[in-house]
Amino acid sequence: MKSKEVLLETDRRGIKNLYNILLQNRNIKESCYEDTAKLINEKKFNQIIIFTGFPKNNTFETDGPLGAFVLAEAFVSKLNMKNIVFLLPSTLLDMISDIIREILPDIKLFSADKFPIDVDLSVNTLGISIEFPGINRVGIAHHMNGDAIKSDYRPVTDFWRRINLQNKNSVTIGIGDGGNEMGLGRYENEIRALIPLANVCTCPCHNGIASNVLADRALLATTSNWGAYALSSLFEHNFSYDQHFTYLKMLNKKGIVDGVTKKCTPTVDNIDPVIEKKIIKKIFLKCID
Ligand SMILES: [Zn+2]
Repeated sequence: MKSKEVLLETDRRGIKNLYNILLQNRNIKESCYEDTAKLINEKKFNQIIIFTGFPKNNTFETDGPLGAFVLAEAFVSKLNMKNIVFLLPSTLLDMISDIIREILPDIKLFSADKFPIDVDLSVNTLGISIEFPGINRVGIAHHMNGDAIKSDYRPVTDFWRRINLQNKNSVTIGIGDGGNEMGLGRYENEIRALIPLANVCTCPCHNGIASNVLADRALLATTSNWGAYALSSLFEHNFSYDQHFTYLKMLNKKGIVDGVTKKCTPTVDNIDPVIEKKIIKKIFLKCID
């Protein structure tokens, strides 16, 4: 199972504990990579909208965009999907749009904070958020340390919610590693019981960092990129640590930082590159169990 590969025992945020609780209490399909890939294969979506970009200081973190690149590559090359949209905060879009044009020339790019967004949600749509801020029950998005994110994420959350409302065949999937991301609100009760600061933030809202934003499926990983990689591997996509490292260096050149150390290094969430290399290799090996 892919979840075994992308949820490390050593994760600091308790996301593996969250997964184990979900296995006891819920329908396994909600958090299962294999079943989610099967759903995507069966549904034949007309368009895919990928939301990514988590702010960090005055820039953004390396977790998220990498996963979005690789998953979009899988959709283009393995599922022959032509209509793929990236929705990124406009500051991030300004920083990395030339990289996206280079890697994925046919992707449509939109700002996640300029409205209206010119995307038709009446068609059969797959919405995927990869490490994208999820507002809590009083409408505030937070960092994992409990600080509020200054930008207003309510309008883009309304857009996310409309994906499910405007076409009953549309599907939303959230990928996250902390419980404060868009889509992980599916597990809000469990997150409030298990994840540090889920109930107690450091900002005046006093409602905690737990996301209140639902998705039809919510996939967990120790770092969100691995979740996106795991999903892409289930479409027979191939990807190597060397390619991951190349993309990271491209992002660093634009000022995108490690989300934990806040440094402009070719790392993600301060994960040891030796471990990252091992996990990426394992994700893209054919799974035998
Ligand atoms: Zn707060």
